[in-house]
Parts: sequence; C-alpha cells; structure tokens
Amino acid sequence: MSIAQNLHDIKSSIPDNVTLVAVSKTKPVSDLMEAYQAGQRIFGENKIQEMTEKWQQMPKDIEWHMIGHVQSNKVKYMVPYVKLIHGVDSLKLLKEINRQAVRWRKNIHCLLQIHIAEEETKFGLDENELDALLNSDEFKEMNNIKIVGLMGMATFTDNQAQIKREFDHLKSIFDKYQQLETANLKLETLSMGMSGDYQIAIDCGSTMVRIGSSIFGTR
Ligand SMILES: *Cc1c(COP(=O)(O)O)cnc(C)c1O
Repeated sequence: MSIAQNLHDIKSSIPDNVTLVAVSKTKPVSDLMEAYQAGQRIFGENKIQEMTEKWQQMPKDIEWHMIGHVQSNKVKYMVPYVKLIHGVDSLKLLKEINRQAVRWRKNIHCLLQIHIAEEETKFGLDENELDALLNSDEFKEMNNIKIVGLMGMATFTDNQAQIKREFDHLKSIFDKYQQLETANLKLETLSMGMSGDYQIAIDCGSTMVRIGSSIFGTR
C-alpha cells in the first residue's frame, strides 16, 4: 500500500472535525513528500533536531507539530517555526518556551500532556499538577504562550475497555478545564489517539489524532 492510499483510507475513516497529524518520525523526507503531494500539511515529529532538518528541506506551508518529550535546552531551535507543541508537562519547560517566544516575538501554542496510562514511563502531569500549574502566578504572567488544549497517551494494551477508560478520563479533565478561559488559556484541542487506538479516541471525544505507522509503515 502506498502512503497516499494509506492517507486516503485514514482520512475517510475520521470525521471532518478531527485533525490528522501525520507522524513522520524516523522516516525520510521522500516519504514525507509523498504525503505532502497527497495533500497532507500537518506533520508530527518527536525530536527537535530531526524536525528542524525536515523543516529546512520541505515546503514552507507545512504545520510542524512537536509531539515528543521536549528538553528545555533545545526549545530555541524550534520556536522560529513550530506550530504546536503537544508534550508540555512542566512549568519549567513552559517558562523556557515563553522565554524563547519573547525573544522571537512569537506566541507559541502548546498542549499540556496529561498522564493517563498505567505505565510509569509515559510523561505527563497528573490532575493535581495540572491544577497547580494553571493556577500559578508564573503561568498567569506568561504572555507569549497559549495553552490551547490537552494531550495524552493511553496504555499500550489490547484491552479496549482500559484504553477507553483512560481516554474518557482525559476527556473529563478537558471538559472541566474548558470552562476556565484566560488570556493564555483556552482549551479547544484534545490530542489523543494513535494508529492502534484512534477510533476509540475519536469515540471518546478526540479532536486531533497523531498517526504514524498506519500511514508510513512500521518504524
Ligand atoms: C510515535 C508517536 C505517535 C504515532 O504512533 P503510531 O503508533 O505510529 O501511530 C503518536 N504520538 C506520539 C506521542 C508518538 O511518539
């Protein structure tokens, strides 16, 4: 199956109000170009250096999303061009994004990553940490970032009921904080769902799915 055909199949299986991020990590630019030529304009990468190299080589009407865990010292390389940072999970990281955004006179859109999986290894804030972050004075004073949604990853399991429970949990947090709207906070995007679980995620209210292997093949 070609990348164009895979993209077509996935697009026809998701509703119009759900945004598709094509996760192209580890894949060569030629594969990304195939998706671009088939009409895809939103790409997700999980390493800043790799994303920056691809940004340099590819057409400039692409939206680049950082979906991986971000190290503060590398934020400066993507701030000039990044469209959305999905994996923000600490006030410290948010401070650095804001600091670089000020330098570049940008306003950077971010999602806060929430820990919903049972695995210890997945990054993210728990609900108490989310609450503390959003209510901190430091956050309220950040003028060059905007929190536009939440992101989460379910446990890697075949247990569909468990995946659904975890996505439902994230959706309930999303709904709760949607009522809170300030100058730099307005939750509109709920990024959840990957190749193996995006149908469940959409059923649970996802508005943005991050799909890699079902488009580009296994890594
Ligand atoms: C790799 C990755 C994806 C895509 O995973 P697939 O199973 O290949 O669809 C989605 N989200 C994050 C955060 C990833 O790191």
